[in-house]
Amino acid sequence: MLTSSQQQLLRVISQSGPSSRTVLAASMGLSKAAMSGIVRDLISLGVLRETETIYGQGRPSILLDLHPEGAFFGGVSLLEDPAPLVLCDFNGNIVARQTMPLSRDPDVIAAMIADTLPKLLSECKDAGRKLSGLGIALSGFVDEKQASCVKSTLLGWQDVPLAGIVRQKTGIATFIENDAKAVAVSEKLFGGARDVQNFSVVSFDDGIGCAHFVGGKLYRGNHGGAGEIAHCTIEPSGAPCRCGKRGCLDTVASLKAIKEMAKAEGLACHSLDDLETEASLGNAAAIRILHRAGSALGLAIAHLIQFNDPGLILITHVEGRFDGLFGTVMRQAVEGNVLPRYAGQTPIRTQRVDGDVWARGAASIAAHNFLIGPNPY
Ligand SMILES: [Zn+2]
Repeated sequence: MLTSSQQQLLRVISQSGPSSRTVLAASMGLSKAAMSGIVRDLISLGVLRETETIYGQGRPSILLDLHPEGAFFGGVSLLEDPAPLVLCDFNGNIVARQTMPLSRDPDVIAAMIADTLPKLLSECKDAGRKLSGLGIALSGFVDEKQASCVKSTLLGWQDVPLAGIVRQKTGIATFIENDAKAVAVSEKLFGGARDVQNFSVVSFDDGIGCAHFVGGKLYRGNHGGAGEIAHCTIEPSGAPCRCGKRGCLDTVASLKAIKEMAKAEGLACHSLDDLETEASLGNAAAIRILHRAGSALGLAIAHLIQFNDPGLILITHVEGRFDGLFGTVMRQAVEGNVLPRYAGQTPIRTQRVDGDVWARGAASIAAHNFLIGPNPY
């Protein structure tokens, strides 16, 4: 267990990148002597390392950075079957991967993780000794302690204290989190939003997920449900949604909805890429579908911008592309639906991610807790 000063120093470096002792002492309001002591302890723990020497005016300074092999974190995604279990280093890189059958039974999940973990750790030297936490990503609402799943339609759960069940079985500190929130934490810790304090991540997949960071902290809302744009009504009296409402964003703009609309129109398109190709050849139905979906997603993002005024909207997508008609219409819909003073002010970045985005996100939840400590939000 790290002290709060040690955690603070690691947190500063994780947000600002490699820094010298002098810069760290100034940013934490500590004397150089106190800083040297903390740095010495963290280096001996193997969590911090000295990297390059910077020569400028005065004495050369040595930069300090997180040691990639200083700590390892496990991440499980309960969104796929088989469920991936990955091992990430302190830079968020996946260094080992295993899979296990997906189950809806929390005790079976805990037993499977306990069975699979030794195989995962055997793939990486020292990982067993330095495993510093386990994260689990799932579809649904999670309580603020990241311990209990309040509600998951996909898993059929209500108030399931999964983190404790897994911890009891494995002996490893375990945290659970909603899938989109896990990806947002991953982007904040290791990805494209590292130096942004206010941003929203929109995960575009079979369903649409969303999570916000406000003032550098994950914003959960009162019931853990902040960011559920998938079920914002975007077409009043539109198609029925699995949530019981009608016209939700998910029924128009998710990858699943787009593919279903293509099928209903008799198009032999099995992916967004196929549909983009058809649209570029002038197929009216393909153009209509992409227009409808892009407009809906753009309108939802315009609302996000109006509500929160974020410094970045980051759209992650496993499949598809945003440089065709869909992405163009989406951007036009954003610009056309925000107040003129917001227009063009919010960068919208798209990022293709691999299928392990959820498991990596889960591992980053464990890393975040290691850096921030208990009750992080
Ligand atoms: Zn819905």
